[in-house]
Amino acid sequence: MEYEIIQIRKIEGACGICEEYSEKNSTTPPKIAILSCEGACSRGEVSRRAANLIAHKLATEETVRICLGGAFTKNTGQRNLVRRAEKCLAIEGCFVSCATRMMQGVLPDWNPEVILADSLYDESLPFGIDEVSDEKFHEYARQVAEKVIVEYIRK
Ligand code: SF4
Repeated sequence: MEYEIIQIRKIEGACGICEEYSEKNSTTPPKIAILSCEGACSRGEVSRRAANLIAHKLATEETVRICLGGAFTKNTGQRNLVRRAEKCLAIEGCFVSCATRMMQGVLPDWNPEVILADSLYDESLPFGIDEVSDEKFHEYARQVAEKVIVEYIRK
């Protein structure tokens, strides 16, 4: 296995609303942690929307939405949610699996269920989110979210 070595500059302080959300959702037993690629392209947009749908609308009791940037760059509440979760789902926009690989950089033993969202809908989407309608994003995100809930959350 080859690795890229990076250094992340530390900063003082933390994002208040992120910490408040983390605290509120740091339940016992822990909720299922939902991460996504958060990507800029249309495939990342589908995975991001699917992750939000799951954690904020369709499975709110069982899941908590993780801020990938926060959990990756800061050793505070969001990373703790990932660390203490018994089950984590990484909904990736594509095979690059950035959410999974980023988090494994800071939590080397982290072993999420990795879901490639673009394998759960029948279209090869372009990069630009301006080339895909909002309705289509919503439809594909819903498809991904419902499949993830059936196969990974409520099975
Ligand atoms: S190309 Fe892949 S990694 Fe980049 S934003 Fe799109 S889905 Fe995410």
